[in-house]
Amino acid sequence: MACKGEHDDPIGVNKTWVKYIEKGEFPNTNRNFSVMRCNHCADSPCTDVCPVTALWEREDGIVDFDPERCIGCKACMQGCPYDALYIDPNSETAAKCNYCSHRVDTGREPACVTVCPEDAILAGDLENPDTEIARTISREEVQARKPEKGTEPKLFYVDGDEGSTTPGTTAREEHYMWSDAPHQVETEGGSVPDFDLEKAAESLAASDVSLGSADGSDDSEARADGGQKDCGCDSCACGEGDTADRQSDGGYQSDGGYATEPSGRTRDDEGDTSRTERAYELLHEEATRVYDIGESHYGSWGWEVYSYTWTKGIAAGMLMLPALFMLFGLVDPNVAAFGASAFFSGLFLAATGVLLILDLEQPTRFHWVLLRPNWNSWLVKGAYIISATGAYLGLVVLGALLGIEAIVTPLSLGVAAVLGAATAVYTAFLFSQSKGRDLWQSPAMPLHMFTQSVIAGSATLVVLGVAGVPWFEAMVGPSALALGAGLVGHAVLVASEIFTPHQTEDAEEAAARITRGRFRTAFWIGGVVVGILLPLAALAVGVPILAAVAGALALVGLFAFEYCWITAPQTISLA
Ligand code: SF4
Repeated sequence: MACKGEHDDPIGVNKTWVKYIEKGEFPNTNRNFSVMRCNHCADSPCTDVCPVTALWEREDGIVDFDPERCIGCKACMQGCPYDALYIDPNSETAAKCNYCSHRVDTGREPACVTVCPEDAILAGDLENPDTEIARTISREEVQARKPEKGTEPKLFYVDGDEGSTTPGTTAREEHYMWSDAPHQVETEGGSVPDFDLEKAAESLAASDVSLGSADGSDDSEARADGGQKDCGCDSCACGEGDTADRQSDGGYQSDGGYATEPSGRTRDDEGDTSRTERAYELLHEEATRVYDIGESHYGSWGWEVYSYTWTKGIAAGMLMLPALFMLFGLVDPNVAAFGASAFFSGLFLAATGVLLILDLEQPTRFHWVLLRPNWNSWLVKGAYIISATGAYLGLVVLGALLGIEAIVTPLSLGVAAVLGAATAVYTAFLFSQSKGRDLWQSPAMPLHMFTQSVIAGSATLVVLGVAGVPWFEAMVGPSALALGAGLVGHAVLVASEIFTPHQTEDAEEAAARITRGRFRTAFWIGGVVVGILLPLAALAVGVPILAAVAGALALVGLFAFEYCWITAPQTISLA
């Protein structure tokens, strides 16, 4: 409350919050409190990825933030492995704990330190051995959150509880009693005033909140942000410490897990009764989080971003492939055909730019990416690559209109291939700067992006060529070959990413949600059947019209895959 008052933060978002977890069963219960906030990391991914230096590390180690510089790209929210950032609904920029730097500058301590009556929060200079915080850390056993991320967090918890510091060890419910009350205890006759478990279960069951199911067959809504089962620690007593079990069973205990069943209900009952029972299970899960932040801290890149990776793939492929076809003699160099390719590529590149701007919380500040650049950020490098590609496409179209042969010289075609490849691949490095999303940390990401642009570009060329657009008719053959090769490569890459063991639990969980969780339909039907298997089958027939069908299906499937790949890792709880 002191933090919200100090910063005048609106309701629903938090720079710092106290996470509650509970363990045990009545009467042997235990509640742990942990203050969560920015760790002011010594090696902070958020400052690296911020394209406009709205986040920076001060000389005293505080990672500060300036909303006046922020464009609202949300890259910092992907970069932070701790869910420390959110979008402030008032300023429409990112926001986070800045260690009350305005107070520190005037010799005072952060507001949370001042207000705590028990001195439970210590702040100060870690490098000065005479400070209380330095002495405490050298004396006590302390834990930091996710040290394996290499961010060197500077926030430590004395005797920190793993259930608090490691998010994967406790279930994350969709709603919390006080942080999200309207979904918790509303009844037809009004809200239930106190947390009577049975009443709460009945009212939760009566609400329109999806509760998922104990067998995991439909956990899509209830597990929208996590919902993984609380286990993996020695003390949660759930008896299911195995990660694979946790993921495969839908994330909740299938055998009940509560001490006393609501009277008169059986597990075989259907309808409202079983729904109430399910609600009871959810509310009585052991070692559960009682209070945490709501959805404000995650899920920040939505349809604009997975649409952008799709249009960018088409733009890159439509430039790169015709250039390579002409460069290697698969089709004759042709000014009009190359100009037409550049024109279509430019259309999709323009759509990419529009989507990128639409995704910003401060769209009128989009040009700051170019004019106030942080050269560590791949958002900036990508913006310059896209700008260079756009400028080159403009010259090619102009050259084609004027009939200038120089646009199809090997030099020009080579430049086109390089710019196309760079446009395709740079996003992989942006994803790798998103340290909060483990599934995106794959070293094969550049190959993914390149392969996807081959699929997107060749599929579009085949569709246009078979549809009779004259400049592309000669490219149908090589494009169909490129499409087949791209699809096979994509299938191998996807299989290796999804089905081989992952380095971290978060990556494993994200992959599980893609293949078995809420994304499974989009992935299997869209990404695999429509996007890979049917196009390969259609291409195998060797008939031009079926090649066009293959191209159209591949584009649809690629979009479905982008949706899964971009969205699923963002549903993993980081805090
Ligand atoms: Fe804070 Fe997250 Fe940045 Fe670390 S990465 S300094 S926790 S916002």
